[in-house]
Amino acid sequence: MSKVYFTDFRTKVGISIPEKLKRLMKEAGFETLPLDHKYVVIKMHFGEFGNLTYLRPQYPRAVGEYVKKLGGFPFLSDCNTLYPGFRKNALDHLQCAAMDGFTRDSTGMEILIGDGLKGTDEVDVPVEGAKYCPVAHIGRAIMDADVYISLAHFKGHEEAGFGGALKNTGMGCGSRAGKMDQHSSGKPRVDLDKCRGCHMCAKECGSDAITYPDDGKAHIDLEACKGCGRCIGACPFDAISPLSYLANEILGCKIAEYSKAVVSGRPCFYINIINNVSPNCDCHAENDAAIIPDVGMAASFDPVALDQACLDLCNAAESFRNSQVGDRYAKGAEHTGNLFKDNNPEVDDDSALRHGEEIGLGSRKYELIRIK
Ligand code: SF4
Ligand code: SF4
Repeated sequence: MSKVYFTDFRTKVGISIPEKLKRLMKEAGFETLPLDHKYVVIKMHFGEFGNLTYLRPQYPRAVGEYVKKLGGFPFLSDCNTLYPGFRKNALDHLQCAAMDGFTRDSTGMEILIGDGLKGTDEVDVPVEGAKYCPVAHIGRAIMDADVYISLAHFKGHEEAGFGGALKNTGMGCGSRAGKMDQHSSGKPRVDLDKCRGCHMCAKECGSDAITYPDDGKAHIDLEACKGCGRCIGACPFDAISPLSYLANEILGCKIAEYSKAVVSGRPCFYINIINNVSPNCDCHAENDAAIIPDVGMAASFDPVALDQACLDLCNAAESFRNSQVGDRYAKGAEHTGNLFKDNNPEVDDDSALRHGEEIGLGSRKYELIRIK
């Protein structure tokens, strides 16, 4: 059984949240990592420009300070996106990060985009025991680091159900080819009976794959579609879903296999911050209201146990009425006890955890240790 350390956001006068995060990391065994004179990548998501739910720069700053105190050389990293947006190449990505507040001054570290200028600087990493991805394509700067730290914003996700350590690691460290590889099963379809021709989906599609022929309804060109899933979250009428009902399940399995490629054979540590729990990914240039109140911060050496614990903590929280999931409940949707599935019913939020455990990435059984 893996240990997951947790603290909420209550503080006493004089103790900041970043200080509390360092205390959590210490209790979780952070100082046992071999950091002295090692290159340490802190993998996070800088938020698409316009989104306001990504983690503030004070969180990576705290992690970086702690790494430096223990003799390590930290840097911040993320890989480019599959879809056109503000993070599709290193120049735009760095500009977006700066506009979202991530600079050398604010974080105390350099930022290296993991897969380089155009998303092609990658390492092909064999994945032992893989069912879907025997070779994973991972951003080179991330693979070059001696120690890997995942610093993830835990929130909802329109394809994976939730985003945490596994999503931040598996999908987030994939180069553009790696992201294509993971998304390739997830091309969507439109339910024409539900579609109202509002054009919201085409605005989200960076691949010009959605058109509106004579019937005025959305039609997806599956040749042009990259399977990024953004249109699924964009449709206010739930008219778009994966073409294959297995697509989201396979996506989760691939995320687990890519995570294994990133973390195997080197020291790793994982932190999830459960605040601003938006219904969808920080990849959106907007964010809907949080679906539950802020929960806290959790850390572990086991990414599967960490995500499972955070999932359970979120499931135990009371959802907000004025939110995406609240709207679904108001329309009569059942409270299943699975918050993220209630939030995005088409998702499979179990497969990454299940497959992660199957391939030896970690354990779903955990002991939750609460820190004041
Ligand atoms: S049609 Fe949807 S899934 Fe396909 S590329 Fe466009 S936004 Fe992404
Ligand atoms: S967002 Fe949904 S309802 Fe609007 S055009 Fe696209 S599929 Fe149709």
